[in-house]
Amino acid sequence: MAVDEAELAQQGKDARQVLLQDIPWNQELWNDLIKRYHGAGLPHASLLLGNEGTGRRPLAFKMAKFLLCQAVDKKTAKNNDSCNQCHSCKLMNAGSHPDYFICDHEAKGKQIKIDTVRKLNDFLSKTPQISACQVVQVYPLEAMNPNASNALLKTLEEPSGESYLLLMAERLGTVLPTIRSRTQRINLQPPKTEQALAWLTQRLPNASAEDLALALRQCGGGPLKAERWLREGLLEQDATYITLMQKWLSGQQQLQDISKALSKYELSDTINWWTGLSLDIMKLGMGADATQISHPQQSEWIGQLVATVSKLKLLTLQNKLQEIAGRLASGQGNYNASLLIESLLLDWQQSFTQTPSTQTSSTQR
Ligand SMILES: [Zn+2]
Repeated sequence: MAVDEAELAQQGKDARQVLLQDIPWNQELWNDLIKRYHGAGLPHASLLLGNEGTGRRPLAFKMAKFLLCQAVDKKTAKNNDSCNQCHSCKLMNAGSHPDYFICDHEAKGKQIKIDTVRKLNDFLSKTPQISACQVVQVYPLEAMNPNASNALLKTLEEPSGESYLLLMAERLGTVLPTIRSRTQRINLQPPKTEQALAWLTQRLPNASAEDLALALRQCGGGPLKAERWLREGLLEQDATYITLMQKWLSGQQQLQDISKALSKYELSDTINWWTGLSLDIMKLGMGADATQISHPQQSEWIGQLVATVSKLKLLTLQNKLQEIAGRLASGQGNYNASLLIESLLLDWQQSFTQTPSTQTSSTQR
């Protein structure tokens, strides 16, 4: 339908906009990479490591565009960025460069399969068509299944021609040690809160300062993730989660009703949110103040939970949530969402000896 197509085209355009922008807090890292490029040269394979929203993909895109740019001269050490004018740069901006290959999963929560890595290997077996080299981007590395990882490992062991591989992951622990040892690490850090909020204000001038700060906090300080959160209305989703949890723990609503309401959302979002709330309880329990948790506006309710929590039970649940989150991120989580949520809700309820009363809705958010 025309409307859907227009919407899809807009989404594609938005996604490209994110890639094409310069991320201010990664500038120092960029300068460092340029220095390395004109010096010893960039390695065959780099591992861009950083939390979601720190700008891994824009940085990888910037690197790729620079490496492929026809105006960049390796010897003169004059170029600090791609020219944005040449044929190669124009093709990169348009998303149709023949020497650039993106290896990713079909959808969130799906694995990267061996077929995709085979296509990557086919691509690298050819010679560059326009530029002096080829660039491959792999995202997210966590989503590779074992067969795909092994196929990628072969590529890393036997680099073919002039090529660069840019691999992206969120945590080092999720990357195979054999892949780790064959790549050079590039660590991306989230910016200082002040810089992140200034950037978010520029991106979303109509959002309230309160919402920006809240989204940033819930997204672990990753501004790009916070922007996506706000654009997709996930902050409202957070308020709904809180209400549902309060209703469940105060016995105002039945297990099946709560589970049904939670199952409407993407399972990984729900699990990540739950992990965040559980961490908040632990932090407040260990003496942190409201400004140090991801739900500062709910510190009173969370404080009530802290007072009745069984630390051991909560810790067990927390481990379970993290394990599920890990499986979902690597595309292995073949769960029945409502059954899983029901069992977690029961574990959650049992983590508290007493259930606190529900706050009135006026105090939410
Ligand atoms: Zn160029």
